[in-house]
Amino acid sequence: MINLTILGSTGSIGRQALEVADWHAERLRVRALAAHDNWRLLAEQAKKYRPVLVAVADEAVYPSLCEELRGLPIQVLAGDEGLLAAAAVGAADTALAAMSGLAGLKPLLAAIDSGKTIALANKEALVASGQLVTARCRERGVELRPVDSEHSAVWQCLAGEDPAAVEQLIITCSGGAFRELSRAELAKVTAADALRHPNWQMGRKITVDCATLVNKGLEVIEAHWLFGVDYEDIKVAIHPQSLVHSLVCFRDGSVKAQLGPADMRLPIAYALLGRERLPNPGPRLDLLQAGRLDFLPPDEDRFPGLTAMLDAGKRGGLLPAYLNGANEALVEAFLRDGIPYLFIGASLCRLLEQAPSELQDTARAADLDAVLAADARGRADAAALMENRYAD
Ligand code: NDP
Ligand code: MG
Repeated sequence: MINLTILGSTGSIGRQALEVADWHAERLRVRALAAHDNWRLLAEQAKKYRPVLVAVADEAVYPSLCEELRGLPIQVLAGDEGLLAAAAVGAADTALAAMSGLAGLKPLLAAIDSGKTIALANKEALVASGQLVTARCRERGVELRPVDSEHSAVWQCLAGEDPAAVEQLIITCSGGAFRELSRAELAKVTAADALRHPNWQMGRKITVDCATLVNKGLEVIEAHWLFGVDYEDIKVAIHPQSLVHSLVCFRDGSVKAQLGPADMRLPIAYALLGRERLPNPGPRLDLLQAGRLDFLPPDEDRFPGLTAMLDAGKRGGLLPAYLNGANEALVEAFLRDGIPYLFIGASLCRLLEQAPSELQDTARAADLDAVLAADARGRADAAALMENRYAD
């Protein structure tokens, strides 16, 4: 039996993980759940799965959650301490890190420190602190398994292979909601347009990241840390059908790809079950119906956020933490205040150009306080750019 703690259980990945737990109830048991403020859904999940612990980050909703779960043998906690307790809970051996944004970093580290196997969806945490998270996993002997579909594909292709035989990774990308739009058309798109992703149903933040292609920049950095491949050897290919989830090229010229329906429950199950393939009732890929598989180079002119994020990864140090923090602030503002879509990519380029040189210091990239400070600085610098724009 695999005992799970699900950090971010009320989100898109968290809810799909619970469906996976239903598929494989004889193998997966839910022992702890955590969310931000959606106490109603969290309470519903707790009543169904009967974990030993639930935690809600927002202390304001704590009384409602306690009231809803009164009389049940479930410990109910709140705030940062609650999240950390859910991450480190002794009853679980595997943690699904499915919170969104850098808010998930401390709980991720707590789960690693408690020795749990990690199924990682929360890419922002790894992007901002790849050195820290991978070093911590090595120190504790903890396995870091990818949940992101592209990284799961690479991980599947690498099964049974010698890592030294890998020549190149090709990370595929749907192209997002605006793949076909010209720059003039991109100037007019809204948050509602960005939230209509052609192939995947996901949380709001990642859906916007897909529309700017920043998500693909984050994923290249994620792949670098997960698989130890140099940035020069990680390529991005636009693949509108989202059926080939990524490819690995080997030094003998052979290429392996992983294909499947665009359904996150598959990579979630593969990570939670530790590569075991159990039967499930999910959809199947019908290649004859799909008909064709297209691959195109990404257009970095129309999607400058991709280039900026890739550059931040290559330059390294604290720059990925800085730019990820800036991107989180810009995406929040895009969703909340409707700042122009093109402002996101343009701001990321400008911030990276002007970034202070100390952020490139690789010696401090494994220091948690330095990562959090770089993230805060990214958010503050993005906020200043937004303010200046409105002052103009
Ligand atoms: P959602 O926005 O749907 O869900 C986020 C989850 O995290 C919710 O449970 C939310 O709680 C919780 N959460 C957010 N902020 C906090 C906080 N400060 N403290 C505690 N809990 C918090 O996101 P997704 O499920 O789409 O994405 C989660 C992660 O997985 C992201 O990093 C994303 O990039 C990655 N990912 C997602 C994919 C997808 O298909 N959705 C695919 C690949 C990667 P509440 O509901 O209470 O707000
Ligand atoms: Mg992905």
